[in-house]
Amino acid sequence: MSTKESKTSVCLSPTSLMEKSMKIEGKDVPFGPPPTEYNYRCSQCDCEMLVNEAIIDVEVGIAEFEGRWYEGFMPVLGCPGCNRETMQYAED
Ligand SMILES: [Zn+2]
Repeated sequence: MSTKESKTSVCLSPTSLMEKSMKIEGKDVPFGPPPTEYNYRCSQCDCEMLVNEAIIDVEVGIAEFEGRWYEGFMPVLGCPGCNRETMQYAED
């Protein structure tokens, strides 16, 4: 782990890029609808990422368990670029 500051705000998320292209190509796949994905954006580096609903479900379950859940709750997730809990749901 390094604490030196980084000027690059490039956020590589090959997984979400792959999912994005699969989504486009997979328009007519006969395997049922693709899972819902939520657009997340980092408040620190503006990195954007698509988050599978399965991950959201888990986070919501934890929030419910801990009594933090409320109507319209969306969990804050860790940013792969910042390594901090700075990814927030971004409606667009
Ligand atoms: Zn970030």
